[in-house]
Amino acid sequence: MSKMKLKPGVITGSALQETFEYMKTVGCALPAVNCIGSNTVVAALAAAREAKSPIVIQFSNSGAHFFGGKFLDNKNEQGAIAGAIAGAHYVRNLAQAYGVAVVLHTDHAAKKLLPWVEGMLNHGEAYYAKHGEPLFSSHMLDLSEEPLHENLEICARILKRMSPMKMTLEIELGVTGGEEDGVDNTDVDNAKLYTQPADVLAAYDALQPIGRFTVAASFGNTHGVYKPGNVKLRPIILKNSQDAIQKERRTGANPVNFVFHGGSGSSREEIREAVSYGVIKMNIDTDTQWAFTHPVKKYMDEKSAYLQDQLGNPEGPDKPNKKYIDPRAWLHAGEKGMAARLVDAFKDLNSFGQFEV
Ligand SMILES: [Zn+2]
Repeated sequence: MSKMKLKPGVITGSALQETFEYMKTVGCALPAVNCIGSNTVVAALAAAREAKSPIVIQFSNSGAHFFGGKFLDNKNEQGAIAGAIAGAHYVRNLAQAYGVAVVLHTDHAAKKLLPWVEGMLNHGEAYYAKHGEPLFSSHMLDLSEEPLHENLEICARILKRMSPMKMTLEIELGVTGGEEDGVDNTDVDNAKLYTQPADVLAAYDALQPIGRFTVAASFGNTHGVYKPGNVKLRPIILKNSQDAIQKERRTGANPVNFVFHGGSGSSREEIREAVSYGVIKMNIDTDTQWAFTHPVKKYMDEKSAYLQDQLGNPEGPDKPNKKYIDPRAWLHAGEKGMAARLVDAFKDLNSFGQFEV
């Protein structure tokens, strides 16, 4: 099969669905990386350029606020809305320069964060009116804490608003373990950590007629990296749901586009098995946070004697330390660490070199 060719810039509309279908045929998925500012965005773009693959750049609610600056008041989600919009424009402008195709997305939004998503959609609709394409490729709603019928009702309402712009909605069924963005699921009952095929079928029936959607399902995945053993990863859960829908609704194989949350700390075998059951996107955050921070710590440790004051180091009491205290020195070390970790993620997900961009 010949490689799919993509234009640099943000992938939206039908092109995104075609990308998902191509990935399911090839058996690969994209890393989705939580970005919090310009340094993490350029690390993601550099990695994608090296992998010759698209990448998902996403902002969490607090990450979007951070992108705008924590100095910004977040009353009624105004800070997180402004940060997300600024980040989206930043990514759009730079993706072209890097020659990279990007899926531009936002992460978990629970019920109380609906004003954030609706605020982004206000901007998105204005952008669409002007440019004929949406600002973001997709948004996520995570209403997994609500009863299933309410989860799907709200998702259907938001998807109806997104569909005229041909945007994709990511939903969540079941609960991802661990902790992220202040939601602590470390103590959740084991049974809830595995999505039921009947729930995926209900979501398929509710959303398929309205528009494009992906499903973050729970199969023992957790946010964060923990000592192995507490919850077992069972990707077969995804296959069971795909098979149920294929049989009940007479679709082709792997009718659902699944999303793997909490990819950090997973083995290549586990990742590849999940991909074979229709996973098209894997979120990675903790591993890239570590990959960014660790080289910075190393820099601070190694250059410690040059970072005590503006003047004076082991070479002499009056020697200037300007080049060591320039934040670019250690920020770029972080960027390089994160980009290298993402290149590994492309290889784990089998998307390294699978596209022409
Ligand atoms: Zn997640």
